[in-house]
Amino acid sequence: MSDKTIRREAFAKINLGLDVVRRLPNGYHEVRMIMQTVGICDVLTFRKAASGIQLIVDKEELPSDQNNLIYKAAKLLMDTAGISDTKGVCITLEKHIPIAAGMAGGSTDAAAALLGINELYEIGYDVDKLKELGVKIGADVPYCIQGGTALAEGIGEVLSVLPTPPACHLVIVKPDINVSTKFVYENLKANELESHPDIDGMIEGLEKGDLKAITDRLANVLETVTVPAYPIIDEIKQSMLDAGAEGALMSGSGPTVFGIFTELEKAKQAAKRIEDAELAKQVFVTAFC
Ligand code: ATP
Repeated sequence: MSDKTIRREAFAKINLGLDVVRRLPNGYHEVRMIMQTVGICDVLTFRKAASGIQLIVDKEELPSDQNNLIYKAAKLLMDTAGISDTKGVCITLEKHIPIAAGMAGGSTDAAAALLGINELYEIGYDVDKLKELGVKIGADVPYCIQGGTALAEGIGEVLSVLPTPPACHLVIVKPDINVSTKFVYENLKANELESHPDIDGMIEGLEKGDLKAITDRLANVLETVTVPAYPIIDEIKQSMLDAGAEGALMSGSGPTVFGIFTELEKAKQAAKRIEDAELAKQVFVTAFC
């Protein structure tokens, strides 16, 4: 067996804008989201094995069996390529992205598994084919394969590339509460929303490279469910704004909150303030990537 090891970084995302257009008859939601990769990543390695899928994870709370999205992605790819009976893979996961946080941690790992094993076994699938497999694992997986800045429509799988926002600093905070994505979507009154994010205005802002046009339009309709249920989300947002953030928002179905800063010093101070007030333990100062 060759000892070639493939190493891949799997980046987290935030949503600069998240709108739910309507609930679909199959229970999914039609969305319009501005997705943005940020500088927090998991690290995965892939090595050939004689048979089976072995997954080693460094966090007790994560499954290492077929319930892990990495396992699901590996199995789907190897079955589709017709190599499951003759080849195996050993995968390790170093987890840095907060779990169940609204940052697509599982989806980005699944995307990395598709890309990593495709390379390891020289399967030769192009990005479109990998995205087609990815959407069977989760709606965000195709975006995670692509990365960068994108408009995601449909259930999240219809992607258009957008310009990267102007450089700035981010404070990303995951409060110590668990918010179930299912709870959030089930409690969203999609047809009764009083206002919708200005996604088109944000796209114009991205095209002009106008950070203020972007920060003025940060909005996420899922906050209508999470903020009343978990006031700490608003407390963290307020703390960031008080510390000089240009804008602050919850990402995805939460509970992670991010703040956008033009000055690194202010970002660091905001992070310290949140830590000192014990609003959260998982606090990152990072940037778009
Ligand atoms: P999204 O933003 O796509 O809603 P999330 O960031 O809210 O995702 P994840 O971190 O992907 O949530 O985890 C959701 C659940 O999925 C976890 O509770 C975990 O048990 C399960 N899971 C399966 N595989 C993984 C993985 N590789 N990394 C993280 N969670 C995983």
